[in-house]
Amino acid sequence: AQKVTFVNAPDTDYSREVLRERAQKALAKVKDSLGKTYLPLINGEYVQTDVIIDSVNPCNPSEIVGHIGLMSIEQAEQALNAAKAAFPAWKKTPATERAKILRKAADLMEERRHELSAWVCLEVGKILQQADAEVSEAIDFCRYYAAEMERLDAGYSYDIAGETNRYQYQPRGIALVISPWNFPMAIATGMTVAALVAGNCTLLKPAETSSVIAAKMVEILVEAGIPKGVIQYVPGKGSQVGAYMVNHPDVHLIAFTGSREVGCRIYADAAILQPGQKHLKRVIAEMGGKNAIIVDESCDLDQAVAGAVFSAFGYSGQKCSAASRIIVLDPVYEAFLERFVEATRSLNIGPTDHPSTQVGPVIDATAQKRIQEYIEIGKQQSTLALQMESPENGYFVGPTIFSNVSPSDTIAQEEIFGPVVAVIRVKNFDEALAVANGTDYALTGGLYSRSPEHIERAQNEFEVGNLYINRTITGAIVARQPFGGFKLSGVGSKAGGPDYLLQFLEPRHITENI
Ligand code: GLU
Repeated sequence: AQKVTFVNAPDTDYSREVLRERAQKALAKVKDSLGKTYLPLINGEYVQTDVIIDSVNPCNPSEIVGHIGLMSIEQAEQALNAAKAAFPAWKKTPATERAKILRKAADLMEERRHELSAWVCLEVGKILQQADAEVSEAIDFCRYYAAEMERLDAGYSYDIAGETNRYQYQPRGIALVISPWNFPMAIATGMTVAALVAGNCTLLKPAETSSVIAAKMVEILVEAGIPKGVIQYVPGKGSQVGAYMVNHPDVHLIAFTGSREVGCRIYADAAILQPGQKHLKRVIAEMGGKNAIIVDESCDLDQAVAGAVFSAFGYSGQKCSAASRIIVLDPVYEAFLERFVEATRSLNIGPTDHPSTQVGPVIDATAQKRIQEYIEIGKQQSTLALQMESPENGYFVGPTIFSNVSPSDTIAQEEIFGPVVAVIRVKNFDEALAVANGTDYALTGGLYSRSPEHIERAQNEFEVGNLYINRTITGAIVARQPFGGFKLSGVGSKAGGPDYLLQFLEPRHITENI
């Protein structure tokens, strides 16, 4: 067979006027189509629901992006039955066919790139450039997992004289995908298409605040050729319908990205064997981080300051990869802090559909309140170095920096998921590593240094899933920086990496005496 090499989709080059115009046109068009209703897709039909909620633009909460029909428990049961019925045929569909559908979906996403970025921008308050990068990542997930499935489909043979020994993979069954709002396009797509291409019937339950984008993504998968019952869009209240599906005996696999609290709950619930259940559930949970960047005395400070600002305040710190602790060695502490504060002060905060905006809002009122509470705690425990003003309307929180933070302070230990950074002073590199490793999490980490010794020590001792040296710590790219952590950052293997699909498959081995 012809070997397909995987190539990452390039982001839009907004320095080209023609592309900027195209993006603005798409944005205007999407603005004209706000406020439609999106219903659950069960067994190929969009079904009416009793409960409808609004998904709003966090920059301007009076602007309704879409109305979302929330499924009932009976409808969840219908969806699970439909998935069960669709499974035998999907399981039998050759892997190459399934891969072809993913490639088609990638092409459709590429065609609708500017429109999809506009939906991301308006529904979750992400600047266009970062929304565009998400569309690239979604495309990459489709094409990469397609190629990965074809690779795995070849299996392995361990034949000897007189006996064939074949190792092969089959799907697990029904996959429940619970996707987050912070990468509503990329992560929802990644988890969903991984489950699908592996041959599982998949139910996608998006975070409520990003339900419109998830609906668009499912539309694309259906158009690309995923059969009815194989992909179902199942928006619902997490604590009721979500929990019902997690606990359901027919579900084989749960792929989740979101908070530590919910992830731990799913892990525990999924472990309970339900009446009639004849398998143990596999849980893949990508949870939080309390990511640190170490800045040492040998580093290029310009690079460190710019990297820290971007890693901490990009998408208002609402990436699980975001930097929330900057650990600075004593000799450069004052110089770094001053420049970090001034560089942050220069950020433009505002509505995300405006081209000059660098930092937008946070996702909703609950998040805004929680982050503001953390800022108050920070003020009691350490020194407020900067708290920026932000627009009144919308769920904004101005970028905030605390200095003289002790490693055990609340804001240096708990994931805030907002634009709040703790700057911590340490005496030497040993202490820097100890502080960096001194949380419950192990997701991303960064080091700015020109010392070969420090770089080597960080490689060996900095306990994170993704370590970035002399660059920003967010923005992992598929098949280049496979992404995911350990400790309480999650369980399961890295998205966009060579082990990811294995989690969605069941290996079998067949020996034949000949
Ligand atoms: N993969 C993203 C990044 O590298 C983070 C994903 C997340 O926040 O869940 O920035």
